[in-house]
Amino acid sequence: MKPNFIQKVTNWGNYPIVEKEMRSEDTLKSIKDFVINHNEVIARGNGRCYGDASLGDSIFSTKKLDKFISFDRLNGIIECESGMLLSEVLEVSVPQGYFLYVTPGTKYVSVGGAIASDVHGKNHHAEGCFSEYILEFKLMVENGDVILCSRNDNSDKFWATIGGMGLTGIILSAKFKLKNIETSYIRQESIKADSLDEIFQLFDESESWTYTVAWIDCLQKGKDIGRSILMRGEHAFRHELFGEKAKDPLTLKKKFQPTVPFYFPNFALNNLTVKIFNYLYYKKQSKKEVNSLIDYETFFYPLDAISDWNKIYGKSGFIQYQMVIPKEKGKEGMRKILDTIANSGNGSFLAVLKLFGKNNPEAYNSFPTEGYTLALDFKVNKKLKKLVDQLDQIVEEFGGRIYLTKDSMSKSSLTNYLKNVNSSKFVSLQHKRIKNNK
Ligand SMILES: Cc1cc2nc3c(=O)[nH]c(=O)nc-3n(C[C@H](O)[C@H](O)[C@H](O)COP(=O)(O)OP(=O)(O)OC[C@H]3O[C@@H](n4cnc5c(N)ncnc54)[C@H](O)[C@@H]3O)c2cc1C
Repeated sequence: MKPNFIQKVTNWGNYPIVEKEMRSEDTLKSIKDFVINHNEVIARGNGRCYGDASLGDSIFSTKKLDKFISFDRLNGIIECESGMLLSEVLEVSVPQGYFLYVTPGTKYVSVGGAIASDVHGKNHHAEGCFSEYILEFKLMVENGDVILCSRNDNSDKFWATIGGMGLTGIILSAKFKLKNIETSYIRQESIKADSLDEIFQLFDESESWTYTVAWIDCLQKGKDIGRSILMRGEHAFRHELFGEKAKDPLTLKKKFQPTVPFYFPNFALNNLTVKIFNYLYYKKQSKKEVNSLIDYETFFYPLDAISDWNKIYGKSGFIQYQMVIPKEKGKEGMRKILDTIANSGNGSFLAVLKLFGKNNPEAYNSFPTEGYTLALDFKVNKKLKKLVDQLDQIVEEFGGRIYLTKDSMSKSSLTNYLKNVNSSKFVSLQHKRIKNNK
């Protein structure tokens, strides 16, 4: 009997859930066969995008493309297959004194996914996107051929694929640069802000810091709007460590990682519980400013500490809505967005504000553009589409755009930076939705 590859597939937000063919192969011949023998193919890495970006009629999972190819320890250059997770890269590179130049807020994304979304971290204003450090990658195109793409070779495909959401082909492997670190610790300053004016001022004052990010209480209204905590950090040097940390500066102790064992019931997360969480989070830090030395996992990946945390949103799932508003209108735009959320009755458990620096014009499919970006999680319910429409309208009014890798419901006009990706072979459900909505 032929194996049946039809299965239920969903990404991190558990919305939407589809029943489609999904296969994983690890030889060039079998990947080529898959591409040639299917009409519409889309690559899927680790499904850490929130919505329908890596869902399609026939899904090629890169799970089996998980091998290292080379590691030049002298120059910090790594080459690996595209399904390798950033967590696996870090496991090997950190003990050797190397870290990723750019990392998203979870280390459980694949290298292919990081290129296809051209991910950003807490350091966009200082160090740009993931693509800045990509030297080359191999791409399987429509007819099954594999081409080498870099700034010099097939540069048109190179730039279209970066941030191209898998719509130009399947990235098979990639070579990229890593940054030198002396320790696996971060020197962090955490500062409370009572208002939107204060948090924007703190971002301005912190531009010389490599990493900045703010958690924001999105349910506050009136004078308390923008109540938040800014975290800024730098990689710690060896001389800053003491005690146990100094003895072994590049090693981290294995930590216990609890798991959310089941989907929470629908009533568990509501405006009241979000309000309580936000209150406690803000009050947890009693002083205005706290300085600490924390390991890189706590600083970069606080959410990874609990496996399957997405289940707290229940079986109906959740979406993440992330937009950027150009810098000059940043504060005004954010005030309107936060006001709209606070009045909507849809609280966001997690709201993260970051600063983007100037974008690289060559990477025309990358989401970041100079300004402020806010990422919000919303539980899927009947009222949500109306809120998304309202937020879309505000983003449009302020000349912003939304991040495709988080999107599940937005208006297509906010995604019109996605260019040169019109293939009849590589098609995602997201791209179809966007095109139909025009
Ligand atoms: C908790 C959390 C925090 C996050 N924080 C951030 C953040 O701070 N910054 C940020 O930028 N993003 C962030 N993200 C989003 C995440 O980094 C991106 O969605 C990333 O692309 C996911 O990679 P993946 O391997 O899971 O790919 P998937 O989710 O499977 O796919 C994402 C996209 O990449 C394409 N793709 C995947 N593999 C390939 C391949 N081999 N070839 C061609 N196309 C491919 C898919 O078709 C799809 O369009 C976060 C996500 C989570 C869950």
